[in-house]
Amino acid sequence: MAKRDYYEVLGVTKNATAEEIKKAYRKQALKYHPDKNPGDKTAEDNFKEAAEAYEVLSNQEKKQRYDQFGHAGVGGASGGGFGGGMSMDDIFSSFGDIFGGFGGFGGFGNSGRSRTRVNKGTNLRVKVKLNLSEIANGVTKKIKVNKYNSCDVCNGTGAKDSHSYSHCSTCGGSGHVTRISNTFLGQMQSTSVCPSCNGEGKIITHKCSACAGEGIVRKEEIISLNIPAGVAEGMQLSVSGKGNAARRGGTNGDLLVVIQEDEHPELIRDGNDLVYNLFVSFPEAALGSTVEIPTIDGKVKIKIDAGTQSGKILRLRGKGIPEINGYGRGDLLVNVQMWTPKNLSKEEIKILEKLKSSENFIPSPDAKDRNIFERMKNYFE
Ligand SMILES: [Zn+2]
Ligand SMILES: [Zn+2]
Repeated sequence: MAKRDYYEVLGVTKNATAEEIKKAYRKQALKYHPDKNPGDKTAEDNFKEAAEAYEVLSNQEKKQRYDQFGHAGVGGASGGGFGGGMSMDDIFSSFGDIFGGFGGFGGFGNSGRSRTRVNKGTNLRVKVKLNLSEIANGVTKKIKVNKYNSCDVCNGTGAKDSHSYSHCSTCGGSGHVTRISNTFLGQMQSTSVCPSCNGEGKIITHKCSACAGEGIVRKEEIISLNIPAGVAEGMQLSVSGKGNAARRGGTNGDLLVVIQEDEHPELIRDGNDLVYNLFVSFPEAALGSTVEIPTIDGKVKIKIDAGTQSGKILRLRGKGIPEINGYGRGDLLVNVQMWTPKNLSKEEIKILEKLKSSENFIPSPDAKDRNIFERMKNYFE
């Protein structure tokens, strides 16, 4: 019998990762699970078919042989059945763990398998550059995208008009062909998409001239993206249906928006917190002072207490980046550093020499202050 392609069975591409293959199999297995489809022979066959595909594709060595030689590489081109005859019990003992974590099988979709192929447009990936202020507040960005859109002339059908079709003679208009074959597991029915009409059931006799029968044309489009606050570098947002249109009236692909974050000239991002390295002069730290610091929303003034040590972290609550899809936001951490001057006048040297020997200017050692992390912890209020 003609076996279906294992990737097609699981509905994954050849580039699918092990995790994607596992996920795809779990989906199929849950759908055709015998508990959910009692007495349904087709569901049982589908369940076995998925298990067979997974048995091969989840095994690196078998997968390689299958990729190279097809079904012949993994246990014979004829015969059918599960890897030479695995029972339902075998399937459960081998892959039983894959059903875990779902709490039973109730309420999972319907049991029948749809045989109609729906064309899906390809996904489109764009990069969007944002500055920290846009990230903190959320932003609407208009971007220009060159993509496939549905052809206006034929409404995406690819046909010149409604009379430009003929019935597909291969499948009689159903869009799929069914084969019945005898295997040692019994009679097996396999249904596949009609190769003549690609599942559409009809054939276009007069093509639309604007799109050469494809139903799609390349166009530039301005798309408005609502980017939520709190996104980060490398994050990917998916805008459903804004990707390429499918050939002849299928569903659109998605638009995948990859976030690129511009570095802020003064603020450093650490998760949802921001860090600002503030330098103060020795007199400012010793006498106390009011200094201006940058925040996402502009400059603010903060107070430096008299006697502030270098390395003190001041926390400005809620002045960081908002949590994406959630409540609350990070803080702005001001790392207070003492500024040590490099060039001194004679007058300055004289004053400092005098201060050097003054009793209050002799540092007292702090044995607990072993590293920056310890210091940061101690200074958090
Ligand atoms: Zn057209
Ligand atoms: Zn057909």
